Amino acid sequence: MTETIHFSQSYAEARSKFVAAVDAAGLDVESHPHPMLGRDGEALAMDVVLEGPRDARALLVISSACHGVEGYCGSGVQNVLLHDPAWHGAVKAAGVAVLYIHALNPYGFSWWRRTTHENVDLNRNFHDFSRPLPTNPAYDEIAALVVPPTWPPSNEVNAAIAAFIATRGERALQSAISGGQYDHPQGVFYGGRNPTWSHVTLRQVLQRHATRCRRLGWIDLHTGLGPSGHGERIFACRDDAAALLRARAWWGAGVTSIYDGSSSSALLSGLMWLAAYEECPQAEYTGIAMEYGTLPVMDVLNALRADQWLENHPEASAEQRRAIKQQLRDAFYTDTDVWKQRIVLQGVEAAHQAVRGLGAG
Ligand SMILES: [Zn+2]
Repeated sequence: MTETIHFSQSYAEARSKFVAAVDAAGLDVESHPHPMLGRDGEALAMDVVLEGPRDARALLVISSACHGVEGYCGSGVQNVLLHDPAWHGAVKAAGVAVLYIHALNPYGFSWWRRTTHENVDLNRNFHDFSRPLPTNPAYDEIAALVVPPTWPPSNEVNAAIAAFIATRGERALQSAISGGQYDHPQGVFYGGRNPTWSHVTLRQVLQRHATRCRRLGWIDLHTGLGPSGHGERIFACRDDAAALLRARAWWGAGVTSIYDGSSSSALLSGLMWLAAYEECPQAEYTGIAMEYGTLPVMDVLNALRADQWLENHPEASAEQRRAIKQQLRDAFYTDTDVWKQRIVLQGVEAAHQAVRGLGAG
């Protein structure tokens, strides 16, 4: 299998491969320029491509890099699909349109961060900010341990984290940290106090492309949770039994849910797909997050802690900076052919399943 050539080592490379794949498929890119530059001085953008009629009754969104650095995986899957004649044939035969959104959070993709340039977790940022935000007392309690004053952490910090796990369990720690918080802007999984650039831009994209369809599907590509190379299909809709039945009919009985504890993800709020309900109320919406495993959960959390410490400490040595950035990238992108091949197989399968489900309606 040669699909691994469609994966990249930098945002600039990923974007140029995406644009080339779109060209080869005879499609056009609509670019939404980001206000900042990338790590290599390159321009950043959310790139959007529509395949199929603008007035299609069914639309499938396939998006990458909600969490910046996770885009190395998602971009590869998008590029594989764009180069696949069998995929284009299936899309056309089903009468479905496909909206590819490349680099929802191009800044994090380029700079090897999970967050946006506002240090915000885009997938915790979809709140009505005129109303009170959720609180996260468990995070408040351990905020100074999660992102401690020194890195590596002191023995005292490590002991306190170990004590938390011993008394309440690793899952409670994961939930406290990854559940999202709105009171520690220099912490991890910070949901922000305003809509981020990516949030605002995504809404514009949905308004432009997703307000005519009757049925809307969404596969949002993520990494960093679960067993290495396994793509967990996490239900990404409101807690609605009919939508869950539909998601399982399309993507299989293995679709997990944050509402019943079957997912490796904690129960979350402020999720990005809420925008599908708000911007596309005319459509019946069905979505999943495709969450590919990389490293064990504590390794991933530790990489995020280190990266946030680095963000708060620009005086860190070049050597430490390089090591932490590599640790972070490795936590969200397993740079081996075997891993990428597994990613592609599952991603392409999920895309075909969605098109069949949408086309059958
Ligand atoms: Zn993610």
